[in-house]
Amino acid sequence: MNLAPAERIGRIYCPDCGLAQSLPAVPAHSVADCARCGGTLLRRIPGGITAALALALAAGLLLFPANFLPLMIVSFEGAERQNLTINGLTSLWDTGYPSLGMVVGAFSVAAPVLWLAALIPSLILVARRSHPPWLGWLFRQAEWLRPWAMTEVYLLGSLVAYSRIKDVASIEISTGGWCFVAFALVILAIGSVLDRRVIWHAIGPDAMAGTDQGDVIDCLACSLIAPLEAEGGFCPRCAARLHRRKPGSFAKTAALTLAAFFLYILANILPVLSIIRFGRGDPSTIFSGVRELIENGLWPLAIIVFLASIAVPLVKLTGLTWFLLAIRCGFTQRVMARTRLYRFIEGIGRWSNIDVFMISILTSLVQFGTLTRVEAEPGAVAFAAVVLLTMLASRAFDARLMWDLVENGHE
Ligand SMILES: [Zn+2]
Ligand SMILES: [Zn+2]
Repeated sequence: MNLAPAERIGRIYCPDCGLAQSLPAVPAHSVADCARCGGTLLRRIPGGITAALALALAAGLLLFPANFLPLMIVSFEGAERQNLTINGLTSLWDTGYPSLGMVVGAFSVAAPVLWLAALIPSLILVARRSHPPWLGWLFRQAEWLRPWAMTEVYLLGSLVAYSRIKDVASIEISTGGWCFVAFALVILAIGSVLDRRVIWHAIGPDAMAGTDQGDVIDCLACSLIAPLEAEGGFCPRCAARLHRRKPGSFAKTAALTLAAFFLYILANILPVLSIIRFGRGDPSTIFSGVRELIENGLWPLAIIVFLASIAVPLVKLTGLTWFLLAIRCGFTQRVMARTRLYRFIEGIGRWSNIDVFMISILTSLVQFGTLTRVEAEPGAVAFAAVVLLTMLASRAFDARLMWDLVENGHE
């Protein structure tokens, strides 16, 4: 499909720093970056929509075997157990952790299904150049759901669970498991060919009439340029409410970050799981899980789990605190560094769920009665809450607030 119109995207506002700039014609296979903060504004991938549609359809097909066939089979002392993706929810629910089960089920099954259910029809309609009035709304739902669809994070969690089980029992990956690997890789590939701004441009005009002069705002969801008077109303392209900045950004981010700080301490003190052998429990914290991986010589996995579970949440919490303090105190120094850190936090946040998924897989696979079984512990609930709250905090934060101070000439 010809994507030439993408070259004609004219004036745009950087989503990270708010700078208005006019985008020159972007050559194929090139990226246009913000002139001020370096954020990516547009990636032009010829055939991107067709490729994304083909990959999304492949993901739609793989969804069924990846979710309805057993992923792994564990044999222990003559008994055998297997797990489906959804067993993360059911096993945690059955062992007294329904809230944790719901979070795992939402991220590993519900969000990927809903995301594809919104993305596939959006891409079909865009490819067929058919534009029903609800298309923008539908694609906005797909964009909103994407970070919560954690298939690739679940895959890494499965790898950690596999490595921990392999040490004590025989474990094999079954057909569903290989389909899940393919499903996760296809989903990663969709992200590499899909440029959101190109899709929005294909869905509808990038600016409302009469926005050539006078004060304007841009839609925070789809980047449509609208007159300032339209603030508070609905975006004609994606049906989101138009706001100049994310509403209540400072207060929401501060409250979520503060709550996450307390839970982060709890999550690191309390055990996250127990291995129960012959009725005797052996509780393990996030840190002792990392140590166990090192003792078994699994250095790469130990480093991944340490970064995802201990370092990344701490970087997120201190980073968000730094952003909030800078805004409150009117600091404008190092605003570039803060913007880069914000982009990093936004991108990396969901990977912290590796341990949560690993725990859900161990509790569903390692259930051999009195011989040995794994149970979740309260630390896992605290940790899942940290990941959820820090993701919500970074999504509620509006990086443009930091740049508003620069424009208003604060010291
Ligand atoms: Zn920028
Ligand atoms: Zn919009």
